[in-house]
Amino acid sequence: MNAPPATTRLPTLPRVERKGLRIAVLAPPWIPVPPLGYGGIEAVVALTCEGLVARGHEVTLFAAPGSHSAAHVHSPLQGTHADQIGSSLYESDHVGAAYDAIDNAASEDRPFDVLHDHSGFTAVAMAHRLSVPVVHTLHAPFNDETRPFYTRHGHKVRLVAISRFQLEHAPPGVGVADVVPNPIRVEDWPFCEDKDDYLLWMGRMDAAKGAHRAIAAARAAGMRLVLAGPVQPGQEEYFRSEVEPHIDGRAVAFVGEVGGARRKELFARAKAFVMPIRWAEPFGMVMVEALACGTPVIAFAEGAASEIVIHGENGFLLADEQAMAEAVGRLDAIDPLRCRESVASRYNVTIVAEGYESVYDSAIQAAASQGPRFVRRVQSVSRWNDRAERVMPGAARASTLQPTG
Ligand code: UDP
Repeated sequence: MNAPPATTRLPTLPRVERKGLRIAVLAPPWIPVPPLGYGGIEAVVALTCEGLVARGHEVTLFAAPGSHSAAHVHSPLQGTHADQIGSSLYESDHVGAAYDAIDNAASEDRPFDVLHDHSGFTAVAMAHRLSVPVVHTLHAPFNDETRPFYTRHGHKVRLVAISRFQLEHAPPGVGVADVVPNPIRVEDWPFCEDKDDYLLWMGRMDAAKGAHRAIAAARAAGMRLVLAGPVQPGQEEYFRSEVEPHIDGRAVAFVGEVGGARRKELFARAKAFVMPIRWAEPFGMVMVEALACGTPVIAFAEGAASEIVIHGENGFLLADEQAMAEAVGRLDAIDPLRCRESVASRYNVTIVAEGYESVYDSAIQAAASQGPRFVRRVQSVSRWNDRAERVMPGAARASTLQPTG
């Protein structure tokens, strides 16, 4: 048998100098944090890490090569393999290496207090074998494929939903204890009241996200449509048959995957962002990004769209393409400032970081009561609780944080 390779030692502060929790964050291995273009989960990981570090926690981020963060970054893999997104080879390599590093830290008496997983299924299925409690953010919807998985393995982690909708659609017996929405920092997005005459759709080229329905709605409204997003592996046939034939560069323009200033400009100048989804959207970062720019969102009332969009205030919730087209004529009733404020007040980084602190606290306390495997945690919990009382007297630390939309 080959000897296992030596595992990299993680840089840490000495125990006495630490102010907050020692948190390991596990991002997916496919896209760097923060993402240069497409990458909703990676954008969430980037802001959450920043928020936690700003609040005095020591955060180690396991993420794809090329990642940058206020946290210590550790990239077990050599490449990003974005063209093989979902491959079990790379996911298990990434997760296994991270788990080894976390266990090594514990055996060297520098244990993490909690692991926050955003990476997917391998980490959840193996979580009970780790020496620290695991919090798992549910980035994908519950469906026929994932329900049996969470029914079998969900109890191994503390599950966090990113919308009330997602919490309410957990399978029977699968305990989702908390809702913490995805974060946005509105200051990172340009506010613009002066709009151009086009509708914007942005997302991965999946039928569920509805680029073809956006085309039908824009056509019915007599509006120009800009489509942006990557055609990921497996989406080529949908794009070729349902979207590409309509692209003419005038009524329907396709600009491919966008990032940086171009992406912000597209969001900010659009008359409205269209979200004709037909799936159990667990959150939908594109909606909050558009709203941050003062751009109303016209969405089908599916999944978390019904929480993010406040009908008549920051956009419209509708049933089909025809109603979506008719709503374009009512866009003047929506105040761009109210759009921006509607996400700043509900999804800012502090709300999200506080929400996760509360979740970590519960996960650590539950683990501490479970016996020897987690016995080290008892010390951490009392240290953290003492600090919480000292630093944040009277701060509301609800065990369930729900967006109010
Ligand atoms: N995105 C991007 N460039 C593109 C298409 C999408 O930067 O060409 C970003 C988009 O701004 C958002 C993320 O990718 O931050 C997609 O996240 P969302 O939650 O909307 O969708 P999902 O995670 O379900 O694909």
